Amino acid sequence: MEMVSITDVDTWNCLSREEEQRWREIRNMESWEYSESCSNCNKRQHQIVKAPQHIEVEVWCWTISCYACKKTTPVIWTNGESSRFIRESIRPNTFENLPCAIEQEYPLFKKGFKKTKNVEEHGNTCVHCGAYQGDWFVWHEYLEIAYEPESVSESKIILVALTEYEQLYYANPKQLFRMHHPRKGAYRDLCPDCYDLYKKKKI
Ligand SMILES: [Zn+2]
Ligand SMILES: [Zn+2]
Repeated sequence: MEMVSITDVDTWNCLSREEEQRWREIRNMESWEYSESCSNCNKRQHQIVKAPQHIEVEVWCWTISCYACKKTTPVIWTNGESSRFIRESIRPNTFENLPCAIEQEYPLFKKGFKKTKNVEEHGNTCVHCGAYQGDWFVWHEYLEIAYEPESVSESKIILVALTEYEQLYYANPKQLFRMHHPRKGAYRDLCPDCYDLYKKKKI
């Protein structure tokens, strides 16, 4: 029996007209993008699928030498490509609820003041001296170990709840069929069904 992942449960939740309008505004998308429809039956070529309520994010843990006390301390970063649904690279602070979800598994990832960004935000801290390990540094380490995943000492899947806004923001267009473009006749764009009728000269 095939296991159904929790991330599959609420996929294929298509946006309503109003939601799609907001999605276009949020994403700065033109009204014609992903709006192609069959010129005979009006079937749309794309459906805009809302991001699921929960997504799984893979978190990697490995050790570095603390820049302050020089002792060996673990750090974590998110596997940027760990979600099948989210196309953008995922960072530990990408989703509103992700930092706290990570902290529950890895208490060393906690809120602190980041001087370089002048914000209070979650980040890696040394388990010995508490010093904040800069995002930029950890991220560069992550890029390197991405090429040698055997240096990751641990990876965990963390389930994170997306906010309503994030579910809209990360909505993805899903192409339902390939459009045909007949050279002759009145129809410019035809779905496969209507193209069949066209070839049989029924439309
Ligand atoms: Zn059609
Ligand atoms: Zn330290």
